[in-house]
Amino acid sequence: MIETDILIIGAGPTGLFTVFEAGLLKLKCHLIDSLPQAGGQCSEIYPKKPIYDIPAYPDILAGELTDKLMEQIAPFKPGFTLGESAVTVDKHEDGSFIVTTNRGTKHKAPIVAIAGGLGVFEPRKPPVENLSNFEDKGVEYIIKDPEFYRGKDVVISGGGDSALDWAYFLANGVANKVSLVHRRNSFRGHLDSVQKVMDMADNGKLNLITEAEVVGVKGEDNLKELVIKHKTQGEILVTTDHWIPLFGLSPKLGPIADWGLNISKNSIEVDTFDYSTNIEGMYAIGDVNTYPGKLKLILCGFHEATLMVQSAFARIHPDKKNVLKYTTVNGVSGF
Ligand SMILES: Cc1cc2nc3c(=O)[nH]c(=O)nc-3n(C[C@H](O)[C@H](O)[C@H](O)COP(=O)(O)OP(=O)(O)OC[C@H]3O[C@@H](n4cnc5c(N)ncnc54)[C@H](O)[C@@H]3O)c2cc1C
Repeated sequence: MIETDILIIGAGPTGLFTVFEAGLLKLKCHLIDSLPQAGGQCSEIYPKKPIYDIPAYPDILAGELTDKLMEQIAPFKPGFTLGESAVTVDKHEDGSFIVTTNRGTKHKAPIVAIAGGLGVFEPRKPPVENLSNFEDKGVEYIIKDPEFYRGKDVVISGGGDSALDWAYFLANGVANKVSLVHRRNSFRGHLDSVQKVMDMADNGKLNLITEAEVVGVKGEDNLKELVIKHKTQGEILVTTDHWIPLFGLSPKLGPIADWGLNISKNSIEVDTFDYSTNIEGMYAIGDVNTYPGKLKLILCGFHEATLMVQSAFARIHPDKKNVLKYTTVNGVSGF
């Protein structure tokens, strides 16, 4: 059981900045995110795009903003449960929340801050029969740790940056054999990513199968073979340890919608005094919440996180008075 003061669901910019504001009040945080990396939409959807409305940064790449936030919160040593989704919430007898993920990891905290943004990014799954039988038994939709594939035979499907970049990375001395399967002859990814993959295929380091798609999965307990339908060659059988279809992720509010929260238009209703929800001890901040005048912007998430932790502090320490202290006066002393 992971125990903390504030359990943050969602490691997007709002969730990350919450760690900093909570740390100033000596409150510890742990973050859960269904994605394998922190940064939310900034790292998953647009890491290379410049943002122009972060105060004091005339422009900053979304990926760079994530890196800076990680640097800013490092002194407060937050814990992370990445690549897992928060699915259920229960009340412990001492009044704390117990939040359990889809992989069974349990977290206990008196305060839960939902910073879930657009929701859980769910993988777009290809329509292949019996696919679910091999999930986590050779079929994965997200690469959490490339080391998992060391020395293995891997087939990746997809034509975007994710498929190209991972195929290149794994074929570069990590996996034993990498095949990239794509429906078309051309790719949607960045030109330099496409070029790198083409060069690897020309050098025989990567097996490129275009105008083809995986139509069948075979094996006993674990995945053993894929049936690939090629435009001109018909059906080809490929032996493999893993198949990683990378067809993108689509966000859904997901399991949080069943937690008994007041929801309006797919967002959680909050009181703008402290961004509390209708469940005592549970807050909603950032893109995931709604209130009159709400703007889904990063800087609004930062403001909401700041007010929220003041309220969380009062709940955790009802007998302590919290006096606002400037960081210029007090500095930042981590844990
Ligand atoms: C293309 C694009 C450009 C943008 N440009 C700007 C801009 O210029 N300026 C600006 O201010 N904003 C911009 N935005 C919006 C900005 O990205 C969002 O306002 C911001 O990301 C919200 O941050 P967040 O932390 O609240 O949520 P998110 O960034 O959405 O992060 C939420 C995280 O919660 C996780 N999560 C959700 N549910 C669960 C669960 N049950 N269990 C575990 N994890 C969960 C998700 O995986 C996700 O990582 C842009 C958005 C897009 C898509």
